[in-house]
Amino acid sequence: MPALSDFAAKIAPPLDPLPFYAPSGVECALFEHAYRNQLPVLLKGPTGCGKTRFVAHMAARLGRPLYTVSCHDDLTAADLTGRHLLKGGETVWVDGPLTRAVREGAIVYLDEVVEARKDVTVVLHPVTDDRRVLPLERTGELLAAPAEFMLVASYNPGYQNVLKTLKPSTRQRFVSIQFDFPDPDAEVAIVAHESGLATDRCVPLVRIANALRDLKGQDLEEGASTRLLVYAATLIRDGVKPEIAIEAALLHPLSDDPEVLKALARVADLAF
Ligand code: ADP
Repeated sequence: MPALSDFAAKIAPPLDPLPFYAPSGVECALFEHAYRNQLPVLLKGPTGCGKTRFVAHMAARLGRPLYTVSCHDDLTAADLTGRHLLKGGETVWVDGPLTRAVREGAIVYLDEVVEARKDVTVVLHPVTDDRRVLPLERTGELLAAPAEFMLVASYNPGYQNVLKTLKPSTRQRFVSIQFDFPDPDAEVAIVAHESGLATDRCVPLVRIANALRDLKGQDLEEGASTRLLVYAATLIRDGVKPEIAIEAALLHPLSDDPEVLKALARVADLAF
């Protein structure tokens, strides 16, 4: 009789397929070159335009584990490197995601890195320059990053926040890849793929999103993202009336101001 572990191995699901990512330029090749040459990468672009999906796709393609950290204004260096915790009466050191990624030769993705506290940049500097080391003051270790380790960060320069911008000394440690919303045909294909809505029904949604994006800087801080388009299309595919889905997923997430929302609705009506 086969051992239970043999049986488990036979019914184990196949490895996850590559996360779907539609490239819009040379970003995949550029990322691979950066990875092979141990260069850190900064992804710049508006929210919801595919940066996170791109990293997931590239990590799977390169066969590396991926640690994603959504940075926020309370995130400290210790949240990335690790800390001593009390476990069963004993104090034990627990690695943070950056330390784990360095030890395992993984890719670590710091989403919206400018949101993090200032001390985070201090730990990033030695792993992002040619030293490629992570000093852990608390444990006295100096970890040398293996060739497979890669640091990727993202940043949305569109937010007009002078206090939250990357310092040149940090920005100049990264190869930068610029992201933007895909061109209309590519975006229609992405939205159809992600939502399951027929391509011809995605066309007017993408048209509306582009009309709304043209308002950026006038009434809006950010235009409608590809993510919001996928939400709208998903609702429509599930039977929600297009005008309701558009209002809920494309217009209301953009503003809280009733007058601005009225203007956005007019723009959407004209583009539909
Ligand atoms: P960001 O990290 O830039 O905020 P995401 O990567 O989370 O944005 O993208 C939001 C969603 O938009 C994804 O979950 C995916 O459904 C879709 N998307 C955007 N761009 C692409 C693309 N180029 N290929 C595939 N899906 C995309």
